[in-house]
Amino acid sequence: MIIGLDDTDSRNGMCTTYLAAVLIEKLENYGTVPGYPLLIRLNPSIKYKTRGNAALAITFEPSNDVDTSQVKALVIETVEEMAVFSDENTNPGVVFIEDSREKLCTDLRVFSMQAVQDVLEIEQAEELMGRHGISYQGFKNGRGLIGALAAAGFGLCGLPDFTYELVAYREIENRGTLRKIDEDSVWDAAGTPDTWDTVDYENKSIVFAPHSPDPILFGIRGGSEEAVRHAFSKTRSEPVERHVVYRTNQNTDMHLVRANVRDVQDSRSYILDGIVSKPPKTIEGGHVIFGISDNGAYMDCAAFEPTKGFRNIIRHLRSGDEVTVFGSVNDGTLNLEKIRIRSLDNYVLRNPLCCGKRMKSMGKGQGFRCVRCGAVKKDREVGIVGRKIEPGFYEVPSCARRHLSKPLVRYPELRLLRAHIP
Ligand SMILES: [Zn+2]
Repeated sequence: MIIGLDDTDSRNGMCTTYLAAVLIEKLENYGTVPGYPLLIRLNPSIKYKTRGNAALAITFEPSNDVDTSQVKALVIETVEEMAVFSDENTNPGVVFIEDSREKLCTDLRVFSMQAVQDVLEIEQAEELMGRHGISYQGFKNGRGLIGALAAAGFGLCGLPDFTYELVAYREIENRGTLRKIDEDSVWDAAGTPDTWDTVDYENKSIVFAPHSPDPILFGIRGGSEEAVRHAFSKTRSEPVERHVVYRTNQNTDMHLVRANVRDVQDSRSYILDGIVSKPPKTIEGGHVIFGISDNGAYMDCAAFEPTKGFRNIIRHLRSGDEVTVFGSVNDGTLNLEKIRIRSLDNYVLRNPLCCGKRMKSMGKGQGFRCVRCGAVKKDREVGIVGRKIEPGFYEVPSCARRHLSKPLVRYPELRLLRAHIP
């Protein structure tokens, strides 16, 4: 059986992953939980999300003497006990998938990807579950059924790409207080190969622990269970109530869809090729905005203030540079997660030089005249401008990374190129 869970958390207190961690412990009294529980991040631009927009899937094999209706009752009881029903944005959903027919995966694969890349309605989840006889329980408006079914779908049909996160949870009596974590040990743990985003080297800060009152003490992200466990063993902190290693679609770029600028829609995330057509400008709040064009279609792109030093790269772009941008689109603006500068336009047209000065234009199409010696020239000259950036991939620092965004350390083919990134 695969159990999908979503939308049980609130902005101030619970977290769906903690509910899953507690549920796993309860389930182990009735059978086994093989493999890894899945932590699935859904479309980051959805307006209805609670916080990180995370859904969970747990694979469960009941013992021979256990009836599945008992298991379902246990899961529903745990959600009723732990979910934050008082929060108007918390609308839990629980889904139980009990068979693995091929036909089911054909439909579910599409649905699960749509939950990460697109915008789905509750009715679409209900229709699919009704058609395949999947049992479920929605609470309040039932919006959580979308994520619960999507997560269960990945549990049944597999994730095309994945990473791991070890999440450590706090003792009840410590929740809501300042987290006690030994900083030196965190910097040491952060050096573990094949882990990332424990610290932000560029901004010299620790980024693996939240500051909210929720039960999470910290989370360690990496490419294997061994890597995240190794970093965990080096981290000294207040007592850990429990910890779970999740397999996850975090840091995979699963939310990004390759598209043309003219086909872009709000609330979705893209990889777009374009040519810089409006040079970068820093606006109030320290955000840097520039525009790209592709076949006559135009798109604003933003490196917002929290992306810190990444903005310094963006500020050096010029009109004519060829780029590929990666990020989510909201209110017609792409929020940059990464950029690949494919080529720089280093050429500039200047009035011709004479007698040590630039010649003066005599009017449109009339050529240029030297104010000192009177010489006349017909055309402007091509000059070369010095640039402070080079072609290559650039990403936001760890402190500004979104859950789904794939860090450059996960591009093995880029390891050489990274040597050139300032
Ligand atoms: Zn002259």
